[in-house]
Amino acid sequence: MDIRVRYAPSPTGLQHIGSVRTALFNYLYAKSKGGTFILRQEDTDRTRFKDEYVQNLYDTFRWLGFYWDEGPDVGGSTGPYIQSERFDLYRSYAHKLVDSGHAYYCFCQDKRADDDVASGTEEESDAPAAFGYPRTCRSIDPKDAHARVQAGHSHVIRLKIPTEGVTVVNDQLLGRIEWKNADVNPDPVLLKSDGFPTYHLANVVDDHLMGITHVMRAQEWIPSAPLHLIMYAAFGWEPPVLCHLPMVLGQDGHKLSKRHGSTAVDEFRKKGYLPEALINYVAMLGCSYEDGRDLYSLEDLCRLFDMKHINKAPAVFDYVKLEWFNGQYIRMKNDSELAALVTPFLADAGLVSTTPSASESAIVLSAMALVRERLKYLSDAPEALAFLFAEPAVPPAADMIPKKLDAARTVTCLQACSQLLHTVDVHSHEEAEAAFRSKADELGCKLGDLLMPLRMAVTGTKVSPPLFESIAVLGVNKAFPRIERAIAVLKESV
Ligand code: GLU
Repeated sequence: MDIRVRYAPSPTGLQHIGSVRTALFNYLYAKSKGGTFILRQEDTDRTRFKDEYVQNLYDTFRWLGFYWDEGPDVGGSTGPYIQSERFDLYRSYAHKLVDSGHAYYCFCQDKRADDDVASGTEEESDAPAAFGYPRTCRSIDPKDAHARVQAGHSHVIRLKIPTEGVTVVNDQLLGRIEWKNADVNPDPVLLKSDGFPTYHLANVVDDHLMGITHVMRAQEWIPSAPLHLIMYAAFGWEPPVLCHLPMVLGQDGHKLSKRHGSTAVDEFRKKGYLPEALINYVAMLGCSYEDGRDLYSLEDLCRLFDMKHINKAPAVFDYVKLEWFNGQYIRMKNDSELAALVTPFLADAGLVSTTPSASESAIVLSAMALVRERLKYLSDAPEALAFLFAEPAVPPAADMIPKKLDAARTVTCLQACSQLLHTVDVHSHEEAEAAFRSKADELGCKLGDLLMPLRMAVTGTKVSPPLFESIAVLGVNKAFPRIERAIAVLKESV
C-alpha cells in the first residue's frame, strides 16, 4: 500500500512545538515507508485566520529543513491543498449527504449553529455533547426543508449522528475506543449559513480525496474521531488508520504551555537553537528509536521511525535535555558552519554589519574555536565575543582587584602581564600558561590572581572564553592599550 499522510494545520496561531511534533512524525512515517507527506492548510476558520500565521508555517518548515511532497508551493503560486480554495467542493459533498439522508438542513436562528463547530485548533476541540444542538430541525420533512432552502431561508447543514449504538475507534496506538453515539456531539454543522464548510466536513472530504492512509494527530482530536467515522460511513468511504499521538506535558504534568517556557518554534529559533537539535529532541517526544543513542540525524530518523515505537504515555518536555542536544549539535559544526550560524546574532547585537565585511568575517571565523565548546545557544555568542569587535569599557578598579591583592599590586601584575605578552606566544596556550605561572610565583601570587585583572582589562568581563586564545584572536597589539587603560584606572584609585 502506498502510504499517504498529511500535516493539516489551521493557520490560527503560530507553529508551536506540539505542531512540529505532529508534522515531524507524519513526515518520518512517510519517509520510513517510502510514502508521501502532504501539507494541507485547513483555513476554514476565517475569523481567526491571519496571513502571518501562514507565513510562520512556511518559515517554520524552511527553518527546520524538511518539506512536503504535495501541497502549497512556498515559492509564491499556491498549490491544490489550501482548503479555502476548495469551498465549492465541500459544499457539493455536504449536499450529497443531505440527498442521501445522512444530513439535513437546519433553520434554527441560533447563533451557535454557526459556532458550535470545532474551530480546527488543537486547543479547542469538539464541544461536549451536553452543549450540543437539540436536533430540532432533524424532524422537518426533507421536502419542506428543501422548499424553505429554495425560498431563501438562512440555513446550515448538519450531520445526523445516530442516537443509539456505538462507534468504535480503532486507534493504532490507543487500541479500541468505544464511543456511545449518544455521547457524540449531536448533529454537528458541516456547512455554515455563509456556505463555508466546517473543519469536520473539509477534513474528512480532503482526507478521502487525497487518499490519506494514516492520520497521525494530537490526542486533543480524539473526540472528533467518532464523528468523522460516522461521516465516513455516511459517505460510504473507507476511513484512514487513526493514530492519536501522546500528549506533550511540562515537568509539572500539565499540558505544555507558555508557563513552562518557550513553545512557539520562532522563540526557539530566536534563542539560537539549531533545527537539528529541535528535530532530534522532538522526534523523541513520545517515540523511541535504537537503544543507547541520543543523537539522530533527520536521515537516521527517516530510516528508523516506526509507529510501533510510539509510546502511549504522555511525553514530558525537558528544556534542559533540549539544551544539551543544542550544545551537541553546536559542537558538531566546523568553524565556517558555526560562523554562518552565529553571524546573524552578532549582527543583531550590532557587533558586525548585517552584511559583514571581509575583516569582520575573518574575526568571526577565527573566534569560533573560542566558543564552540561553550555555547548553549547561538544567542550566547554576542556576549562572549563582544570584546573582539569593540573595546570594552574599562571596568571599575574595584572589580579588577583580586581579593588577596590591592590596587598597587594589581598594577604590578598588569605591568608584568604586559611585558610577558611582548615575549610569549599566546597561540601556544601551554607555553603561555607556563610563563604566566612562573611569573605568578615570582610575584608571590596565584596564577588566577595574575590573570583575573588581565582578563578584565582585555575582555571587560570576569568570565570570558579561554584567555590566551582570546588574546590570540584579538591580536596581542590590541591588548596592550586595554591593559594601559586598566592600569591608569587602578592608579587613579590608589
Ligand atoms: N486542522 C487541524 C489542526 O489544526 C487538523 C486536525 C487533524 O489533523 O485532523 O490541528
